[in-house]
Amino acid sequence: MTDFSLAFDTQAVKLGAPHDDAAGAIAPPIYLSTTFERAADGSYPSGYEYARDDNPNRSMLEHAISSLEGGTAGAAFASGSAAVMTLFQALSPGDHVIAPDDMYYGVRLMLERCFARWGLGVTLVDTTSTENIAAAMQERTRVVLIETPSNPQLKVTDIAAAADVAHAAGAQLVCDNTMATPVLQRPIELGADMVVHSTTKYLSGHHDAMGGALATKNDNALWNEVRFLQKCCGAIPSPFACWLTLRGLPSLAHRVRRQSESALQVARYLSNHKRVERVLHPWISPESKDVAKQQMTGAGGVFSVCIKGGADDALRVAARTRIFRRATSFGGGESLIEHRASVEGPATKTPPNLLRLAIGLEDPNDLIADLEQAIEAGTHS
Ligand SMILES: *Cc1c(COP(=O)(O)O)cnc(C)c1O
Repeated sequence: MTDFSLAFDTQAVKLGAPHDDAAGAIAPPIYLSTTFERAADGSYPSGYEYARDDNPNRSMLEHAISSLEGGTAGAAFASGSAAVMTLFQALSPGDHVIAPDDMYYGVRLMLERCFARWGLGVTLVDTTSTENIAAAMQERTRVVLIETPSNPQLKVTDIAAAADVAHAAGAQLVCDNTMATPVLQRPIELGADMVVHSTTKYLSGHHDAMGGALATKNDNALWNEVRFLQKCCGAIPSPFACWLTLRGLPSLAHRVRRQSESALQVARYLSNHKRVERVLHPWISPESKDVAKQQMTGAGGVFSVCIKGGADDALRVAARTRIFRRATSFGGGESLIEHRASVEGPATKTPPNLLRLAIGLEDPNDLIADLEQAIEAGTHS
């Protein structure tokens, strides 16, 4: 069991490399077996039965994520999208969900295209104002989903205030903590009932393992249904994906703090650049900085920048970077740059001149020099 008197960094190391009683291995073994042996009396002495239901690598990961989030239980999935999908599947046709107007576009697509068809109502609001959340409440609102900071506009929602509004209406607050990670923000301590992660990003941390997770504060009916669906419908991660994700945890706090500090330095540089219209960063944007500083111990490694001009100007800057790689995602060691509107498609509300930057583990001065030359080469003088 986790010793909560230990500091976060120590916990993350211990949870990422649990003790192996069989061989004393420091790096845990990978259990590839799909099936586990029964005792003569028909029972399962190890507690494991069949790998869709559970597997030792998955239990290690679920325990680690729920502990780091301060929850009571965790459930791991094949991707962040599969985690959110399972949460929505646990609701019933006729139920209603409130979700942010700026959020990971795949989740919006899932709500509008898959779950609308199966009868789950959804209202998208700007959750940065709790009045908007309160006004969107319906009789059958079961879940208020927030994503803070949001992707890609880095909007910040007051988690404690959103929890109060959700609870007053009998709904649960679910917070996507992918961007902040438990290193910088602890939604359950602030009042959230459940936390969502795309572990594909910072938790695994090396751009090499897909995964998702839910962590819960309450062992309630909704959580039981999530557990049932995880085992029954099977959107589960492989043992190797669990192992890779666990391997990311001992370095998590160090990676995230460094990326967060570098991102602030790069964002400050860009916010003073004459060819930059504005920088969307939780600690720099006037709309977000008060709440962000109150509920986060760092602003995170991802932010966006709007280049003066249009989509072409932004694309030309992205085309000229030498250190930043042009790719989607974030959370690994390599800095990434991405023109979000062209990924999100014609229905997007993302500004056409917006570039999302995911700051990696390189020296921030090299990243600044790279952006300097890319903006110089990519914009008209
Ligand atoms: C990437 C991401 C997701 C989706 O996770 P996948 O692992 O790509 O399926 C959900 N929410 C946020 C905030 C994300 O960044």
